[in-house]
Amino acid sequence: MEPLKTELLVLGAGPGGYTAAFYAADKGKRVVLVDQDKRLGGVCLNRGCIPSKALLHATQVLRQAKAAKAHGLSFGAPQVNLDKLRAWKESVIDKLTQGLGTLAQKRSVTVLCGRGYFEDSHTLRVETEEGQKFVAYERAIIAVGSKPALPSAFDLGNKRIMTSTEALDIPDVPEKLLIVGGGYIGMELGTVYATLGSNVVLVEALGSILLGADSDLARPVMRYAESAFGEVRLNTKVLRMATSGKQRRRFIGAFILRLADGIRLLRVRGGAIRLNRCGRGAPHPTARGSAPRPGRPSIGPRGPARPHAYRRPPSDNG
Ligand SMILES: Cc1cc2nc3c(=O)[nH]c(=O)nc-3n(C[C@H](O)[C@H](O)[C@H](O)COP(=O)(O)OP(=O)(O)OC[C@H]3O[C@@H](n4cnc5c(N)ncnc54)[C@H](O)[C@@H]3O)c2cc1C
Repeated sequence: MEPLKTELLVLGAGPGGYTAAFYAADKGKRVVLVDQDKRLGGVCLNRGCIPSKALLHATQVLRQAKAAKAHGLSFGAPQVNLDKLRAWKESVIDKLTQGLGTLAQKRSVTVLCGRGYFEDSHTLRVETEEGQKFVAYERAIIAVGSKPALPSAFDLGNKRIMTSTEALDIPDVPEKLLIVGGGYIGMELGTVYATLGSNVVLVEALGSILLGADSDLARPVMRYAESAFGEVRLNTKVLRMATSGKQRRRFIGAFILRLADGIRLLRVRGGAIRLNRCGRGAPHPTARGSAPRPGRPSIGPRGPARPHAYRRPPSDNG
């Protein structure tokens, strides 16, 4: 099959990839933008900033309605329809990703949907729904981003242990929710779930939340968490996570956490979100996809991307 020829290939259509693609097109380059997701926008639009802000907004309305009671305005108990909330959140994402599609079209950026694998330093194979396609490029920008990582000690193969991706889908509102990591993602999702009715327990290994944020900004968030969450434990590291055995019925399905702060055991019924303290769903962002190395024409295994080809970005881009 004749490859699609282009001056610039951009692999990954997140905020890094699509801005680079649009900028290059504006400068007169022929650009092909490849992403495995059907919707452009990467993690930020599909599984990150946008859905989390949409949910924060929706739950803020709930909090404001409750607070309005002090002003003499009572709205009664809120009725939360999770299906509708999810559908609304998806509609926000759809609108924004469609906007990106239009921006790409206006710039004549060719968008290919499929997972890309580098065949050599000038050829990308894209596994699309219609079959394999090849892109012959002069230069490439790799903007494959990061994905949530679950440390193996926490990966119990239990659906109730979620990363930010699953948590943003709000499969349900657990009675009790443990959040491991007090970065911005943990605080945001804790706020959403606490407002929807979960008793949130936040555990953070460091002595403060929102590492790297100005303490003037972190303080009001901490104050809010202390009032809205069931518990906030700083200087507390989760060492182990396990589902309990079946012998003791009342603990079936509960998580047992061994904590390093002297409390030892915390049994949590409900769900758990594992989030890193610096706020990314991925404590160790790994660039997925095989990357061409200078002077090595063919590095890509023909299967899915393998660890030897992973590249850790120089710094966290969250
Ligand atoms: C819950 C959450 C909330 C966040 N909130 C904020 C916020 O409020 N503000 C903020 O600035 N940041 C926020 N972030 C971080 C933000 O989402 C990331 O910094 C941003 O998405 C990084 O953009 P990127 O283009 O580098 O990569 P990504 O957005 O990860 O995009 C990479 C793209 O590459 C694609 N891809 C990967 N490998 C291949 C392959 N082999 N073939 C084809 N496609 C491939 C992926 O499908 C993806 O679409 C949040 C993140 C999360 C998880």
